[in-house]
Amino acid sequence: MFADKVRIFVKAGNGGNGAVSFHTEKYVPNGGPDGGDGGKGGDVIFVASSSVNTLSEFYYKKHYRAQNGENGAGQNCYGKQGQDLKISVPVGTVVRDKETGRIMADMFENGQTFVVMRGGEGGRGNRKFATSRRQAPAFSQHGVKTEEKEIELELKTIADVGLVGFPNVGKSTLLSVISAARPKIANYHFTTLNPNLGVVDVFEDSFVVADIPGLIEGAGSGAGLGHEFLRHIERTRMLVHVLDMSGSEGRNPCEDFLQINRELEIYSKDLTKLKQIVVANKMDLPGAEENLRIFRSRFKDGYEVFPLSAVCRDGVKPLLTRIAQMLKEIPPVAPLEFEPFVYEREDSDAFEILANDDGSFEVVGPLVDSLARKVLLDDYDSLRYMQKTLKNKGVFAALKKAGMKDGDTVVIGGVEFDNVE
Ligand code: GDP
Ligand code: MG
Repeated sequence: MFADKVRIFVKAGNGGNGAVSFHTEKYVPNGGPDGGDGGKGGDVIFVASSSVNTLSEFYYKKHYRAQNGENGAGQNCYGKQGQDLKISVPVGTVVRDKETGRIMADMFENGQTFVVMRGGEGGRGNRKFATSRRQAPAFSQHGVKTEEKEIELELKTIADVGLVGFPNVGKSTLLSVISAARPKIANYHFTTLNPNLGVVDVFEDSFVVADIPGLIEGAGSGAGLGHEFLRHIERTRMLVHVLDMSGSEGRNPCEDFLQINRELEIYSKDLTKLKQIVVANKMDLPGAEENLRIFRSRFKDGYEVFPLSAVCRDGVKPLLTRIAQMLKEIPPVAPLEFEPFVYEREDSDAFEILANDDGSFEVVGPLVDSLARKVLLDDYDSLRYMQKTLKNKGVFAALKKAGMKDGDTVVIGGVEFDNVE
C-alpha cells in the first residue's frame, strides 16, 4: 500500500481532576482540606526517524491518543501525569493542521521532535482553594479536556539525488548496486511503490539517493500515479535521469528523455532548474551503442552522459565520482519556510462580553471556561470564589463599561445571574 499523504486524528491527554477531600484522623476534629491536584495529560509528539521510510502505518491506524492525567486524591495525593505519545514519522514529513491547511512542522532532520499538542493541565484540588477566609472549600477544579484534531502528514522525501526515468529502465537496480538499499526489482512497471533511499559512499564522501516510482506519461498533469510521486524529488539537489538506452521495451530513449523532462516541467518549473545528468543504462544489450550515438548527437550540449550497465555493475564508478563532485557545489536542501502554526493553549485570563438581543449580557472565553470547570457552581463557596475571580480579572468592570445596569441578567458559563449591585 502506498501512502505519502495521510490524515490522522491526534488527541493529547486530558488533565486529571482535582480532588475534594478533608483530612480525617482520630481525635482531630475538622481536619483541613487535603484534596490533591489532578495530573497533566500526556503530550502528542512527532519524532522524525530515518529508520521509518513510509507513512503507510498511518493508512491503517487513524487515531492517536496520549494518556490522560489521573485524578487527584485525598491526603494531598497528586494524580499521576499522563504519558506522552511519541509518533515516529519519516524524515521529510510535513505536518499540517487539516482544518486550516497550515503547516505546523517540517520534520527535516533525524531525531527532530515536534509537540503537536500539549496535554491538558490538571485541575487543582480543594486544598489549593483554601484561604484564611475560606478554610474548608468544598470544590475543586476539573482538569482541562483536550480536543481531538485532524492532522495531515505529507512525505516530501529529502535526498541529495533523485533518480527519474520511465518504469523498468533500471533505477532500482542502479540503487541496489550503488548502495545497501534493497529496493524491489522486477520486470514489470511500477514495482517501486514507495520511495527507496540509499546511502552511497564514494571515498570519504557520501550522499543519499532517492529512487522514486517510475514516471509515466501524463504524470505531471495529474494523470495516473506519477504525479503523486513527483513530490519525492522536489527536495533533492540534483537529478539523475536514467534511460534504457537499448530501447529493450520497444521505446525510443530520445523520446523517453524528452517526455520525462516535459513531465517534470509540467509538475514544477523548479524541477527543471535542478542539475540533471543522464545515465545510459542497459549498455550490455544489443542496440544500445547505436542509440547512444544518436542520443549524443541529438543532445550535444547541456547533458553529461554516463553509459553503464547496472546489472553488470559496469561503468558505475565514474558516475558516482561525478555526482559527489557536483554535490560539493550545490547547496543543501533547506527546510520549508512557513509561518509557524500551533494549537492555542488555553489562556485562562481572556474573556469577551457579548450583548444579547434580549438585553442580557454574556461573558465568554477561556476565563469563563476555566471557571466553569469548577465542580460545584451551586455551592456557596464556589460561587464566592467565582465572583471574586470575576472581579479580580476585571470582568465586572468590563460589564459595567458595556452598559450593564442593576437588575440586568448576566450569563456566565451557561448559568444566569441577576446583577445586584
Ligand atoms: P525501474 O522500474 O526503473 O526501477 O527498473 P528495475 O531496476 O526494476 O529494472 C527493470 C528490469 O530491467 C529488471 O528486470 C532488471 O533486471 C533490468 N535491468 C536493469 N538494469 C539493467 C541493465 O543494465 N542491463 C540489463 N540487461 N537489464 C537491466
Ligand atoms: Mg523501480
